[in-house]
Parts: sequence; C-alpha cells; structure tokens
Amino acid sequence: LTPDSAIRAAGDYKTATKNFWHPMSPSKQDPSQETLIVVSGEGNYVTDADGNRLLDGVGGLWNVNVGHNRAEVKDAIKAQLDQLAYYQSFDGVAHPRVYDLADRLVGMLAQEDAHRVLFGSNGSDAVETALKLSRQYWIAAGEPGRVRFLSLRNSYHGMHIGGTSVGGNAVYHYNHGPLLPGVELLDSPFLYRNPWNTEDPAELTDHLIRQLEERIEFLGGQTIAAFIAEPVQGAGGVIVPPEDYWPRVREVLDRHGILMISDEVVTGFGRTGNMLGSRGWGVKPDIMAFAKGISAGYIPLAATVFNRRVADAIENGPGFSNVIMHGYTYSGHPTAAAAALAVLDIVERDDLPGNAGLVGAVLQDELQALESHRYVGETRGKGLMAAIDLVADKGTRESVDPSSGIAHRIAAAAREEGVVVRPAGTKIILSPPLTLEADEAREMVRALDAALSRVD
Ligand code: PLP
Repeated sequence: LTPDSAIRAAGDYKTATKNFWHPMSPSKQDPSQETLIVVSGEGNYVTDADGNRLLDGVGGLWNVNVGHNRAEVKDAIKAQLDQLAYYQSFDGVAHPRVYDLADRLVGMLAQEDAHRVLFGSNGSDAVETALKLSRQYWIAAGEPGRVRFLSLRNSYHGMHIGGTSVGGNAVYHYNHGPLLPGVELLDSPFLYRNPWNTEDPAELTDHLIRQLEERIEFLGGQTIAAFIAEPVQGAGGVIVPPEDYWPRVREVLDRHGILMISDEVVTGFGRTGNMLGSRGWGVKPDIMAFAKGISAGYIPLAATVFNRRVADAIENGPGFSNVIMHGYTYSGHPTAAAAALAVLDIVERDDLPGNAGLVGAVLQDELQALESHRYVGETRGKGLMAAIDLVADKGTRESVDPSSGIAHRIAAAAREEGVVVRPAGTKIILSPPLTLEADEAREMVRALDAALSRVD
C-alpha cells in the first residue's frame, strides 16, 4: 500500500490545498504565499522540496540543539522501539528509561538542589505542571491562600490556559479569554524599551526591583504562590536582562517566601552559553520547566524539575496534599526518554553550552554590523539566541507595523540567500542548533545583510 503522501511530488505541497491549520498563523492562508516545505535535515542544514540546502537559523523551533539526523539519537530511539515503544508510569507502574532520565536530570541539576521530576510532552505542559505544583506546594506547606502568580511583560510561557494567562503578550489573550485570575504582570527587564526610558542597566534594575517590591507589598506576599519568568525572554524578542536583575529578584522573592519558577524551555541545556539560563545569572530556581532542547525535537518531551524545598514539602504534606493528582498519558514516554538520554549525552560530551557561548559571541558581534540598515533598531541576544528588532523610526524606536509583512519579506529574502530565519511580528529571531560553527554564524549574518539590503 503506497501512502498518499508518497505519491505526491514534494514540490506539490508548496501550493497544495491544505486541511491543516498552521499554528500561530492566519486561519485562511494567502493562496499566493508559498510554504517552505522542509523534507530532510542533516547537521545544521535542512533541505526544502526544491532541493535547496538551507542553513537552519531557527534550529527547528529553538529545539534541534544537537543538529538534524544524529545517528546516536536515532539509534537510541530505534533500540527503545524494538524493546518497548510505550508504557505508562502512573501509580505503581514504570519502565527503566523514565527512572534513568529522572536520575540523569537530578544529577545534572545538583547545583540547583534538584530533587524530583515530573514529565510531560511539551513546554506548555512543563509550565502548566510548574504552576499547578507551585500551588500544591503552598497547600502542603499550610498556606493555601498563596495562589497568585507574578510574571513579566513580553514573556511567553506556552499555550495552555495557565501558561497563556501568565504570558505577557496580549496577542495570545485576545481570542481565548477569560483567562486565569490572580496574575500580575510586571515590566520586562528590557533596556531597549522600558517605561522609564533608561538605558542604564543598573538604573533599570533599580526601577524593576522597586516595582516588584511595591506590587508584593500591595498584594500581600502571603497571597503570592510564585514568580515565573524566562532567564532570557525568547519569543518576546530575546530580551537579555541586566547582570544584577536575577540575583536581586531572587533576594526579594526569598524575603517574601515566594517561589521562583524558571521557564527554561528555550534556555535549558545550553542555548545561552550555560547549561541553564538561570545558572548563567547565578540564581537557583525552586522549579524549572524544560522541553525543546531536552530531546532536541527528535521526540516531544518535557520535564518539570522541583528542588528539595518544594519536593520535601509536597512529599510531607498533610492529607491529600502529598498526592500528585496531575500527569499525562505521556508523563514519562519511554521512547522520548531514550531520545533525551542520547541528546543529553551529546550536550555534555561535546560541551554544547560551551560551543553556544563561543560561537554565540561571534554571532552577536557580527550581528551588530546590521544596525546600519534602515529598519534595524537593535540586534541583541546571548549565546545562540538572538533577535533583530525592526523599527519604523530609529529615534523613537517605534516598531515597524507588524501587518506590513516586512519581517516576512526579510525572512523570504534570507531564504533565497540560503538561510532560514524566523519572522516574528516585528522581529527576526535566530536560534540555530548549538552545534553551529563560527563560519556558519558568519554565513547567517551575511545572508541577513543581503536580505536587509533588499528591503532598505
Ligand atoms: N516556554 C517558553 C519559554 C517557550 O519559548 C515555549 C515555546 O516556544 C513554551 C514555553 C511552550 O513550549 P511548547 O510550544 O513546546 O508547548
């Protein structure tokens, strides 16, 4: 039996009628707009339906951190499939790989005092688990009135109702309200655009910490469960906080007993040049949410990791508060766990965080030259995550009109130059595999330079 997909030529998919809604896209696609159909991947490159080999500047979607088509990961998946594709891990049942991966994570995160792990399938699961279990922590700890969440403008925490509610970008709220009550948004540690119009990092942190303290005082610390944030905001435009921001936030949260949830879905396992984004800022979260890089896209997987403070309180909680009444069919998928173990082997053996730091420095440095282009207000990033912030006016820093399609035009031109980049509203986002080489970083910037020249 020939699968239907095999009898169409790869090129036919570019304009084919689709029964498929693209996520994060207009529901009715412009029929004249060609879709990039990716048919294969190898290392840091993908090949499209026309046979063009393109440098993958997006790393799939910030997740193919070890590069495409790695034999080690495929072999691990195959071996697991030959043994057991799936079994559950609810009460009293499990399989070896889920224990192996939990032990591996707790070991890798010993510095963070990691103690327990709950698995899921994607970043949205990881965040939802973190939010729900942070509330359970307070029930177990005897303060059930702590239900609020603090989060940041420009943040992105996935698409479940909890993650959408703590997300700091209103476009994700419009079509899906009402969302979770009790979420308080604070300003983002964003030097390029902030309400105080300051470009001084220390001054910005002072303002943000004052705002945090005032908000906690107004709401009452005893009503707040947790503060959730990304160590470096990703989808919101790769916003890198001032050096002292995270340690000072942690100090305030500690004074009020508020839990810190670090959303490491993008930053976990190397992207910022450190094994964890939070580690790079010298802070230890109470709860960490991982997905993407943990299995590098080979099979969906998420992990939410709890430190000893949280795990001990839940395990010793009175009555029902010590029961984990949360989990998914795929909380601990054996094949995904096998893939993750192989991916983490590569991350550690090849020191991909170190490579992201070194090659990332080349990338960030070269990107700055693009600021001479008409629409480039700023380039910024850390390690191998970067954004080009597109502005209509460099003086006021007013963003380009997102409906102008300029980001898409730049991305399309970059693709013609041989590089895939991600247009995201008023930004171009870069998140290549962490196996990127310095020459490839330069090639990405060359392609972007040529692409920007076409729209100048
Ligand atoms: N958290 C962060 C920081 C993310 O960037 C994302 C996705 O981009 C998510 C959560 C949600 O992950 P997923 O799309 O796998 O549900």
